[in-house]
This record gives sequence, C-alpha cells and structure tokens, in this order.
Amino acid sequence: MVDCAITLRPATSSDEPFLLSLRRATMTAPRATSRTQAGKLSYAEGLCIRIHHMTPPDISAIQDWHAHVYFDAEHRDAAWALREQIEARFEGKLQMGRFHERPVGPHPLWSYQLAFEPSHFSEIVTWLTLNHGALDVFLHPNTGDGLRDHRDSAVWIGHSYTLKLEVFDR
Ligand code: ZN
Repeated sequence: MVDCAITLRPATSSDEPFLLSLRRATMTAPRATSRTQAGKLSYAEGLCIRIHHMTPPDISAIQDWHAHVYFDAEHRDAAWALREQIEARFEGKLQMGRFHERPVGPHPLWSYQLAFEPSHFSEIVTWLTLNHGALDVFLHPNTGDGLRDHRDSAVWIGHSYTLKLEVFDR
C-alpha cells in the first residue's frame, strides 16, 4: 500500500491518459480505493504516485538539514570524540544537539543531532563521509513535512536503520 503524504485532489481532464492506462493496468474500476491484488495499484494509490511525481517540493522548501550521529554503549567514546572534532571544525556553522544516551523520537539508536543551513551541506556532509569512522549517520532535510523528510528524503552514511516513523502518524 502506498502511503500518500499529501492530500489527494480531484482528477481533471488532464489526468485522463494516466487514468486510462491505470484502468488498463489494474482492470479495476477507477473509484476503487480498497486494496487490490498483489502487484496491482488501486486508483487511489496510482493517483497518489502520480501527484508525488508531478509535484516534487522545490529545494527552497528545505529550511535546514539535520545529521543524526548514531551510537550505542560500545561506541559511546567514539561518538563523543567525533562530536568534539565536529564542534572544533565547524564552529559557527552548525548547532550541536544534546548527547542522548537513549533512543529519542524516530531514532532507533542513541544519537546526537547536528543542524545546519543548506549552504553548509556540502562542506559538512563531505567531511562526515570520510570521518564518521564506525558510526552511522542519518541525514534528512527539514521542509515542514516530518514524515516525508524522514521517510522519503533520508540519506545515510554507513549503515541504514529502520526509523520509528509512527511518531509522525497524523
Ligand atoms: Zn532530525
């Protein structure tokens, strides 16, 4: 099931070619909103994909970026050492968050957060790719849509993890 992050709009005449192809693909009535057989899209799902495809947010929607450095008890000292390196190197270019020795929010591991302007993205992220060591880093933009930012726009350095996206249930 596709999870639509934006509000569905009524179909218009310009959607007809797409809706016709969708009808052929699913062989279901276009008003169907229930789950269809595996591998087939429902009308609502197809329209949702279509709208997503048609209206990607402009990058100016990105207010800032977060980089969340993940760690556990075993890697606590390495996480702290990296934090000190980051603070020394990028002083004035980012805001350093608290050192959480427990999972917080959607993050499945212990973590701390770096927040920075889009103009510093290249410098900071490039450095992180070469200096994160054994730690994994989760990056996401902040556009005002928390679910989309964490689910669809996720960037990982190192390994990826399953986030607790249910915190964004609306
Ligand atoms: Zn964040």
